[in-house]
Amino acid sequence: QAKAAGGNQVAVYTEDDVVHINRMEELRRALRSILPSEQLSLNYQPIYDAAGRLRGLEALLRWQHELLGNIPPGEFITLAEQSGQIVEIGEWVLSEACQMIHRTRSKGLTDIIISVNLSPVQITAPGFVDTLQRILAQTETPPECLEFEITESIMIDSSKRTTTVLNALRVMGVRIALDDFGIGYASLTYLRELPLHTLKLDRSFICHITEQHAEAAIVKAMISLVHELGFEAVAEGVETIEQFELLRSWGCNLYQGYLLGKPMKEEAICAKLRQAAL
Ligand code: C2E
Ligand code: MG
Ligand code: MG
Ligand code: MG
Repeated sequence: QAKAAGGNQVAVYTEDDVVHINRMEELRRALRSILPSEQLSLNYQPIYDAAGRLRGLEALLRWQHELLGNIPPGEFITLAEQSGQIVEIGEWVLSEACQMIHRTRSKGLTDIIISVNLSPVQITAPGFVDTLQRILAQTETPPECLEFEITESIMIDSSKRTTTVLNALRVMGVRIALDDFGIGYASLTYLRELPLHTLKLDRSFICHITEQHAEAAIVKAMISLVHELGFEAVAEGVETIEQFELLRSWGCNLYQGYLLGKPMKEEAICAKLRQAAL
């Protein structure tokens, strides 16, 4: 069926489209009156090295609405980007994550890295670097304990401003990871232009490596590319021991996925942190 295509074409909506549009409207409305400190929380998913040592935590946003229930980030981040509210929400995330860094460090875990997803809208928002510097200072966060996860989409309509901000982050000592590597539409030239430390191989590649030769070849080649460029490779979405073993045989540096740990509330992650401190 023909979808809305602009111009002089007629838009035909299916019943599913209507349900989807209504849901988006409902979420947009709920978002307008969001109270970050009351409705948002962060989950943390552990990231391990090949020897099984806890290396870092990815902060993942959760929105609990009193009427709508749990709304996954996949549903609301884009809406928050469109409305510009991602700037305020992102600032809240950053501040929470830095306080978490402070708490883990005070438990003696001084080399755990906390990763925070960063929207392209936040990067180009005025005052982003100042806000970051203020939060780092207030929470006494060493910049090297913080990693921003950006996606290839920032390179598609990358402005000079994006590059300037990313270089400022590098100078400050904040780490930068390229998230969902391999599924974007950007050309590979961005790999030499971005000041990266880490590349996260997207889950959609990882999930087929044990049964599909082509996926295995792609991931193996991605890992050597990452190493040739001097970065570290993180495998996202590792769900089976077979995937883990295969990735390890290819020299993948870091692992994240349900096999090793789901995203958890801070209290649950603290038990993992205590193990790591032993
Ligand atoms: P992402 O950054 O690629 O995060 C990884 C997603 O994969 C998370 O989904 C995580 O729960 C899920 N995941 C991890 N391991 C596995 C696994 O083994 N199997 C499967 N099936 N899934 C796994 P989540 O938490 O729903 O987040 C979805 C996306 O929302 C994130 O993808 C990120 O792009 C975005 N997001 C989350 N938090 C934030 C935030 O604070 N700010 C921004 N801008 N985006 C965020
Ligand atoms: Mg991420
Ligand atoms: Mg990811
Ligand atoms: Mg991904």
